[in-house]
Amino acid sequence: MLKGKCAVITGSTSGIGLGIAEGFAAAGINMVINGFGDAAEIEGIRAGLESKFGVKVLYDGADMSKPDQIEAMMKRAADTFGGVDILINNAGIQHVCPVEEFPTAKWDAILAINLTSAFHTTRCAVPYMKSKGWGRIINVASAHGLVASKFKTAYVAAKHGILGFTTTIALELAENGITANSICPGYVLTPLVQKQIPDTAKARGISEEEVIKNVLLAAQPTKRFVTVEEIAGTSLFLCSDSAASITGTHIAVEGGWTAQ
Ligand code: NAD
Repeated sequence: MLKGKCAVITGSTSGIGLGIAEGFAAAGINMVINGFGDAAEIEGIRAGLESKFGVKVLYDGADMSKPDQIEAMMKRAADTFGGVDILINNAGIQHVCPVEEFPTAKWDAILAINLTSAFHTTRCAVPYMKSKGWGRIINVASAHGLVASKFKTAYVAAKHGILGFTTTIALELAENGITANSICPGYVLTPLVQKQIPDTAKARGISEEEVIKNVLLAAQPTKRFVTVEEIAGTSLFLCSDSAASITGTHIAVEGGWTAQ
């Protein structure tokens, strides 16, 4: 039932977004992928998804901190595919640092990319979804949308914010066949997590091995990283007919982290 639909997946050149793109392509969904990286590698991803799964995949390098670029990407998606049926707000960055030393430019960038970009993509996508009476909006939040960890003020603020945004649009769009939900992953071993290990070690005065064992996986009762395939599967479920009445929720996929 998802074959032939069009998805826009922000931040899908790497990690969780790329995992969702692969899962969606396997389900026959056409898509716009987005994010930064080496041009040749990105073209390899784009062309690879098309040839492996027989779907149409467009790459758009819009910077999620730039509203005009987001608007242009959403229009391009709709012009190419005749609408935007599924929106996955996934692009995100992290910075780990005590609050009194937190660079203000990093705060602004995290809020812009992890939170405000979802407002811009959503306001652009909703008219297309309303015209078809069907839509799925999924915000990739975090367990840090539900609970905090030290030294992540901007990230935790942005992720708590996106849950409020999700529930509000869910109410606004509930009679239009459009659902909006957040997924709250625990730690997934992507470049975003790999990059924060040295900074966390420095901020806490411990080794990188201790960060993995005593900080990252200590939070997750399953004692293993969540996989991108698990997040892709949850996203596909939320897009299915079975999930038509699931809206305004935050689905934790975090190995029991917030059950404690
Ligand atoms: P990642 O670094 O592997 O991927 C991030 C993606 O966002 C990349 O494609 C990158 O190019 C893109 N991106 C960054 N800045 C951008 C910008 N200004 N404009 C457009 N694209 C931009 O990270 P990830 O771990 O896959 O994270 C994806 C999402 O999942 C983020 O929102 C993150 O907060 C969330 N998340 C990750 C984890 C985890 O443990 N990895 C846990 C919970 C939530």
